[in-house]
Amino acid sequence: MAAYDLVIREAKVATAADIFTCDIGVKGGKIAALGHDLPKGEEEIAAKGRIVTPGGIDGHIHLSQDVGAGAELADDFTSGTLSAACGGTTTIIPFAYQPRGQSLRAAVRDYHTKSDGKSFIDYAFHLIITDPTTTVMGQELPALIADGYTSFKLYMTYDPIKLNDRQIVEILSLARREQAMTMIHAENTDVIAWLTDILEGSGRIAPKFHGVSRPTIQEGEATHRAISFSELLEVPILIVHVSSQEAVTEIRRAQDRGLRIFAETCPQYLFLTADDMDPKDGHGAACVCSPPPRDKATQEVLWNAIGNGTFSIISSDHSPFALKGTRGKFAFGRNAPFSKIPNGVPGVETRMPLIMSEGVLKGRITLQQYVALTATNVAKIYGLSHRKGSVVVGHDADLVIWDTATERKVAQSMLHHATDYTPYEGMTVSAWPDVVTSRGEVVVKGGEPAAHAKQGRGEFLRCERPEGALPRKGVQGIEARIAAMAP
Ligand SMILES: [Zn+2]
Repeated sequence: MAAYDLVIREAKVATAADIFTCDIGVKGGKIAALGHDLPKGEEEIAAKGRIVTPGGIDGHIHLSQDVGAGAELADDFTSGTLSAACGGTTTIIPFAYQPRGQSLRAAVRDYHTKSDGKSFIDYAFHLIITDPTTTVMGQELPALIADGYTSFKLYMTYDPIKLNDRQIVEILSLARREQAMTMIHAENTDVIAWLTDILEGSGRIAPKFHGVSRPTIQEGEATHRAISFSELLEVPILIVHVSSQEAVTEIRRAQDRGLRIFAETCPQYLFLTADDMDPKDGHGAACVCSPPPRDKATQEVLWNAIGNGTFSIISSDHSPFALKGTRGKFAFGRNAPFSKIPNGVPGVETRMPLIMSEGVLKGRITLQQYVALTATNVAKIYGLSHRKGSVVVGHDADLVIWDTATERKVAQSMLHHATDYTPYEGMTVSAWPDVVTSRGEVVVKGGEPAAHAKQGRGEFLRCERPEGALPRKGVQGIEARIAAMAP
């Protein structure tokens, strides 16, 4: 009997800390040994000189999510997770969304029904809280956190789901008490509504005006507000999908003052600009997302903020709406005003190769930074680092063997998502995942689904209480200060 189920030979292994050449021995789905001249494996892969990274963890992806009447996401847990795997992502954390008036527990059950038996790779859930009733706050949320749903997203904008400042503060108080991670979509809803009325009321309805309706200054304001609440309560938060200089400045200033503020950006802000919402082919709706893509100068600001550690993670915010048919981008008509275009771009399959190619191979970030941004930090921030996000003995054998020898053009035809376009069509990349393993099983080979790519093999992961969600030692929030006051 072979000593290992799988041995990957002479790999150039990258972790968030180091790069080293060794064999990787896999047994029972786990990394069992890192060393030289390991005994034979049942299966052997020669990887001499090739980069091997931990499988990507995508901490921001929307699948099978209820997006309201009229429209629907193109990807469910089948197509979405196959697409993720083919792009080198082996763990996803999509959202269980609570529609207003519904219990949070019921929402979680609902998303388990949507995902059970469907996924090709492992997955956890963030919660989206839209209705923090006394039952949600007093019973459901604390119980769900204890059950392994230790992170949740709050929205400062979007009418059907936004929370007001008091609700946000109350949830942050709970997050502090329960050691959960709060993700915040930071935009100023009233400013956006007012500008949208001005634009659409004067006939400025084309997709490009979506960008005008969400100026960077309102993102900066909302980011500042979210950070202020975090400081008031002394509880860490993560600002999702940061797109602007203004937001980066607020985050950096807070971090420089010692506050525990985490931040995420996404490929759409690094590779697209506002011009992509106004292309010659008239498909501006394809790149409408929120916050919107900005300009070339902002792309450099974001790369710098990735390089200097302001951003902890890069996620896809995969929100796929089809261009064809009547349930996607044009659910409200081909000429619907921009405020009626479903927000979002696909990107779960392109995130890992785009950042490897444009970030690492073009010298903007190191390979170790890449691993941290796409896997290790994501695992730490969301409570999965007990088994995901690094190449260490005992971790799940979720690995990507990279092809960095071939140049290719990104094309819709090579992707596995269920939507009908990629915003990165025609972009030249010099990296693509060649072999992807999930718990030691080869699920992708040559960029295509392989023998072990079986629907339903993916397991649900319970998240631990994230280390990063701990308040700073010795710093009290407003509640502790009040509790110390004599009545
Ligand atoms: Zn968002």
